[in-house]
Amino acid sequence: MEEGLKIAQRAGRTVQCPKCAKPLIVAIEEGWEVDFCNQCKGIWVDVWEEKELLRIKPEAFTMDELKRLHAFYKPLGKADPVRYVPCPVCKELMNRKIWGSYSGIIIDKCYKHGTWYDDGELTKIQEYVASGGIEYEKMAMMEDGFNAVNSKLTSEVSRINQKLIGIYSRSKMAQLYSLSGF
Ligand SMILES: [Zn+2]
Ligand SMILES: [Zn+2]
Repeated sequence: MEEGLKIAQRAGRTVQCPKCAKPLIVAIEEGWEVDFCNQCKGIWVDVWEEKELLRIKPEAFTMDELKRLHAFYKPLGKADPVRYVPCPVCKELMNRKIWGSYSGIIIDKCYKHGTWYDDGELTKIQEYVASGGIEYEKMAMMEDGFNAVNSKLTSEVSRINQKLIGIYSRSKMAQLYSLSGF
């Protein structure tokens, strides 16, 4: 272990990397203490620190700007093998979760203790938030909702139209029948 490195601990016990089982070391990420693996470069972020690390205010974007930004956004193109890994604190297997809808990043999360970010993932998520990723998700959800309501309305209108046409043609037929003396 290099000089000056502090081994991460929780409740008096050292914490290990969930991926390579090496002891994590204390590192500072934007003024916040996180636990870092020297081998795989992953980062463990405690539940209460996570909000701070992701408290990035994106500028106000218009919908068009968000769409443009989203087109430029490149998710981390790394195939992560499906493997459940233990929480460094409680050792229970963590949940695998896609961060947001479009970030393309799958993180390992213990709902009680925190989140494990593989090398580069935290930075990528910060970039995603900064470039309006969350705003884009909200907008896309609203658009989906709008489209769903719209298509429901359209099908309802065409159903009513069909019904009206049916009624109309029946009364037209009745008229024709009565004119022709049937
Ligand atoms: Zn590691
Ligand atoms: Zn845990």
